[in-house]
Amino acid sequence: MLHFFFAPLFMFKKILIANRGEIAVRILRACRELGIQSVAVFSEVDRKSLHVRLADEAYAIGPAPSRESYLRIDKLMDVARLAGCDALHPGYGFLAENPALARACREARVTFIGPPAEAMEALGSKTSGRQLARRVEVPTVPGTNNPTEKSEARVLAQSMGYPALLKAVAGGGGKGMRLVYSDAEFESAFRDAASEAMNAFGDERLYLEKYLERPRHIEIQVLADAHGRVVSLGERECSIQRRHQKVLEEAPSPVVTPELRRKMSEAAVRLARAGGYVNAGTMEFLVDQNLNFYFLEANTRLQVEHPVTEQVTGLDLVKLQIAIAAGHRLPFAWESITPRGHAMEVRLYAEDPENNLFPSPGKILSRHTPTGPGIRMDEGVYEGWTVPTDYDPLLSKLVAWGNSREETIARLRRALDEYSITGIRTNASLFRRILEEPEFLRGEIHTRWLDEFLRRSRAAAALLTSDQNNESDSNGSREVSAIAAAVWQAKQIATQASTASSASETSSRWKMEGRRELLDRMP
Ligand code: ADP
Repeated sequence: MLHFFFAPLFMFKKILIANRGEIAVRILRACRELGIQSVAVFSEVDRKSLHVRLADEAYAIGPAPSRESYLRIDKLMDVARLAGCDALHPGYGFLAENPALARACREARVTFIGPPAEAMEALGSKTSGRQLARRVEVPTVPGTNNPTEKSEARVLAQSMGYPALLKAVAGGGGKGMRLVYSDAEFESAFRDAASEAMNAFGDERLYLEKYLERPRHIEIQVLADAHGRVVSLGERECSIQRRHQKVLEEAPSPVVTPELRRKMSEAAVRLARAGGYVNAGTMEFLVDQNLNFYFLEANTRLQVEHPVTEQVTGLDLVKLQIAIAAGHRLPFAWESITPRGHAMEVRLYAEDPENNLFPSPGKILSRHTPTGPGIRMDEGVYEGWTVPTDYDPLLSKLVAWGNSREETIARLRRALDEYSITGIRTNASLFRRILEEPEFLRGEIHTRWLDEFLRRSRAAAALLTSDQNNESDSNGSREVSAIAAAVWQAKQIATQASTASSASETSSRWKMEGRRELLDRMP
């Protein structure tokens, strides 16, 4: 459909990809399929990265720290000029939501593949997004709609009742966000949040929201062309989060009915229209237990989790972004889009599951990537490559598609069993455990579910250790039935967790066996 739709019309010749890692690879693949030349940029530590190897051309833009390379608009513009690029794709993160980059592109006559700077400003800042939502009657989480002084925020927190959430106006990635449980904590929480926001964004302004207990995070993907058509591609459920950061996403959501999808889509489309939005964007909502939804924020770029939408709609969002930026009309109405089957993505990070999921960069010695029915792997790594310490340690996104949620989960489990990587630690075992949990399987999840699950598992493991110590101590006070019951319950949880981890151990033994065989075969 897309080739037919683009063929006789204008298309870019060369696109600068102002990013790195898996998303840079994702974008250059779309360029290649469209017959567009791709230009990569790289910092000193990324010289051997996959995106550099796969791009048609690549240019060094400075040392490892992103403020001296990937965040330098001047250097990006120099490369665009030097290489003769007619468009720039920012990916996600780095400068993707910075209106200054969109403006610099406009001045340099390089098309920015994303929304206009003005739309980013109208929707991208959390408080301006809230103000816009209020104007178009989309419900928001209760709180302030403007940057708020400490004393004013405190009075509001007292009147709304705790817990309350302090958030950075310029926020993103959970930075500058503080959960406040009581009035006594307010002063120090405000101070910490403001200084974290200052460090992360150079903007210390905060605002306040009521903290919703155990909501779901459900977001709507929108696409808007430059001719006034705005479509919704349906929702993604992103409630599986660790410390408020998404780690597993799926589409459709297990709780969204066609009626709710229609209502949330209408709200998202209304917001996009009101903000003068063009290109791909996401409207994020929190959804309570009664399925009331509240606008959280807009992400004015491609999301990490876009592949799950691609899998259930059959659309290529990056190609559509490029087509929209080139001035094409969207060839479909959103009413015509209904999700087909189910898709789920897990974010594989270089993290050590035995050390509180701490980043674990290093050299990849060997790896096996799962394939087979319904499996897609978006990644920016290869064997022999060293994962740098300087950036987010996202390695790969493993995506499964199936006819039903059950089939998708079965495929994802199977793919995780096939996945192996040596030299670095990854969080793959965490997903094996999540995919065995009865609550997860029933879709009974919320944004605190994973943190609570991990806390329960840790507590269970600790109780189990102390129980074993007590058993060897004949004078121990094991008669107390309440404690025994708690220990028993904890054991149940720990057994489940250890079954899951023994599965990963088996697979790692299997991996070691494979590596040994490989070494044996070497001359
Ligand atoms: P960031 O942009 O920094 O990632 P978001 O506003 O997107 O922050 O929120 C990230 C996550 O934090 C949400 O998905 C949700 O889990 C949690 N969260 C944010 N605001 C609230 C709130 N008012 N009540 C409960 N949870 C919230």
